[in-house]
Amino acid sequence: MNAIELEVPAIYEEDLQRVLNKLGILQDIIGGKVKCFICDKEINLSNFGGVVKIKGNLKVICEDPVCIEAAIEISEALQVTK
Ligand SMILES: [Zn+2]
Repeated sequence: MNAIELEVPAIYEEDLQRVLNKLGILQDIIGGKVKCFICDKEINLSNFGGVVKIKGNLKVICEDPVCIEAAIEISEALQVTK
């Protein structure tokens, strides 16, 4: 039973951009408007770690394993309380 939506698509930059574009956040990331949901670091195409959906909102996290883990924990906690 794993209901967490976590996407970590970053392998090829081209694919990453396509995924981000699909999510509607590519321009924001290129424009430096997106920050890591956990550590508040500015996200760019090389430190993008993934996205989590929290209460229907997309949250971007950087590639730091600590942030990814924290994001998973938060989304798990939210799933439980829902
Ligand atoms: Zn982070």
